[in-house]
Amino acid sequence: THFGYETVTESEKQDRVAGVFSSVAESYDKMNDFMSLGIHRLWKYVPPRSPLPPTPILTDTRLQRDHFVSSLNPGATTPLGKPQRMLDVAGGTGDIAFRMLQHAHVHNANPNIHITISDINPDMLAVGKQRSLDLPASYQSNLSFLEANAEMLPAQIKDNSLDLYTVSFGIRNFSNIPAALREAHRVLKPGGVFACLEFSKVDKYPLLNAIYKRWSFSAIPLIGQLVAADRDSYQYLVESIDRFPSQEAFRDMIVDAGFAVSGDGYENLTGGIAAIHKGIKP
Ligand code: SAM
Repeated sequence: THFGYETVTESEKQDRVAGVFSSVAESYDKMNDFMSLGIHRLWKYVPPRSPLPPTPILTDTRLQRDHFVSSLNPGATTPLGKPQRMLDVAGGTGDIAFRMLQHAHVHNANPNIHITISDINPDMLAVGKQRSLDLPASYQSNLSFLEANAEMLPAQIKDNSLDLYTVSFGIRNFSNIPAALREAHRVLKPGGVFACLEFSKVDKYPLLNAIYKRWSFSAIPLIGQLVAADRDSYQYLVESIDRFPSQEAFRDMIVDAGFAVSGDGYENLTGGIAAIHKGIKP
């Protein structure tokens, strides 16, 4: 199976991505743990070290570390309690949104937030909806689900309406990334934040890169075959990571969409296996 940009049209790519995520939806969360050896959990969220009551959903190790959700500090509004509206695009099974809710409620004691989890794939959303039923009722009332293509968000997501737009391990699957970035810019308020967590390049560390490439190109499709009986989908995931632009090239695309970035515009995690990119709508 090869899904090179050069050989498939946008709508073909969209169909194939739809097929991949429909077939992995049920096994998606388990596979994430297998394939990343659990490290994706640390990239997404490690709760702060300050005392936190146990919660029913997350059991992550409590190390203090830079990571996606706490670096966004959802719920930290000035003044505290001012409503905050967020959109988690390609939110799939709810991994990021649930961590954002936990952070806002528990760490910032701010329940006055709303998160829309959107995804193009109804099967991934269905898994997210089902998982959300295990959340406390006060978290559930902060959530809504929306089937939507990130490249053409529906009119109900209004211009200049959001404080925070997140996309985690989703954007490399989009057929038209510049279109999705323009949509992100359109729906954010001035001052609103675009934040992306995505696999990236390990170019600065040749040894780590060699090990990582070997792991991803041989082990991941095999694990996909053994655990999920679906080699092709996991082969696609590995190839899509390989083709995604470098940290700098992706940062430049974010700037081209009209965002302001500070410093390099990105932060590497685990030597660049993943990276966080952020932009602010001026
Ligand atoms: N955000 C979750 C996480 O961090 O684990 C799920 C990421 S999952 C690897 C990628 C998701 O992107 C899938 O649920 C897929 O359906 C979604 N997706 C792919 N193309 C999309 C598009 N054009 N618009 C919205 N979602 C899309």
